[in-house]
Amino acid sequence: MESPLLPGGTIGILGGGQLGRMSAIAARRMGYKVRTFDPSPGACAAGIADEHITAEWSDTAALTRFAQGCGRITLEFENIPPATVEFVAQSVPCHPSAKVLAICQNRRREKEFLRASGIPCANFAVVSSFAELQAAVQSVGLPCVLKTADFGYDGKGQVKLPTAAEDLSAAWTKIGGAVGVLEAWVPFQMEISVLVARTIDGRTAVYDPAENIHRNHILHLSISPARISEATAVEARALALSIAEKIQLVGLLAVEMFVKDGRIVVNELAPRPHNSGHQTFDANETSQFEQHIRAVCGLPLGGTKPLAPSAMVNLLGDVWRGGQEPDWTKVLKDPAAKLHLYDKGKSAPGRKMGHITVTAPTVEEAISRAEALHAAL
Ligand code: AMP
Repeated sequence: MESPLLPGGTIGILGGGQLGRMSAIAARRMGYKVRTFDPSPGACAAGIADEHITAEWSDTAALTRFAQGCGRITLEFENIPPATVEFVAQSVPCHPSAKVLAICQNRRREKEFLRASGIPCANFAVVSSFAELQAAVQSVGLPCVLKTADFGYDGKGQVKLPTAAEDLSAAWTKIGGAVGVLEAWVPFQMEISVLVARTIDGRTAVYDPAENIHRNHILHLSISPARISEATAVEARALALSIAEKIQLVGLLAVEMFVKDGRIVVNELAPRPHNSGHQTFDANETSQFEQHIRAVCGLPLGGTKPLAPSAMVNLLGDVWRGGQEPDWTKVLKDPAAKLHLYDKGKSAPGRKMGHITVTAPTVEEAISRAEALHAAL
């Protein structure tokens, strides 16, 4: 059995975006050294890491340098080629594994895993040609949603059917005519997500579900705890734990779910910290980022209890009107608001630049204050 990597050791993080940046903050706070790796020279985790390597995922010489001296490697982005993870895992334990990654980064494998594991998910059919799509529409029924198998996130690479023109062939062209998954449309009342952490020796910790509200397919607001019944919350946590066991997770997993008539339908898995868990940084006993580090290092897991109701609102590049830095005093004047900025440099519409978390005595108050701060910008 792999021994724990204790504080003082070096953690390598594949990916240098905001999730890597906040994981690096948590790791450094605990006394770890952090090395990050990303193909993009502007990776925002670089400013936090002790060392950053800019190279392609396929650059084995750079990956060898990256892995050298690391006691553990993890990742912050699921679209890393599994071959990259397999390569570094030859010399350093890497969590989550290439196998978990391969399931979570492809909707077909993800759906097939959920179905085979007996986890409730939307009815679906795999389609790899236009003729199969036509047949699948018959078997799955309308309305439904066609999604690319690879590289989908934030609603990218998906088309709801019937489209305005009810044109199947246009939908097929839109997803690039590649392998896809045709999924029944779930008329849900709410979207929630559950974070679960698991260590190599099978210890687990699960968070209360967060309630997620999207705008233009991008997370806008995440509310914790979700406004659902205790029975629904119990079912959601149990499903997340069951998925973590079945996939043999080591690390952190976010499970996105729909709530329909009080029951859960699992939508997507992300084997890394998740946008809907950012409020845990300020509002829970242990943040998702620290829990991620604890889980991959094999440490005891931290408590997950919420310290207060909270609401997290994303700050997209749209808030930088005309490219101008917003007046942050408008946020900071609320003493319970926590401002997080990712140091991403140039803003762009839809680009996740930061977030604000507000804690309050009730979720309703946290929501209204978070929304008001966001609107003030
Ligand atoms: P995804 O990329 O699968 O996370 O989907 C992005 C968003 O599209 C989800 O957060 C939902 O709001 C919506 N969505 C995706 N799949 C379905 C579905 N089968 N039924 C209803 N809404 C869906």
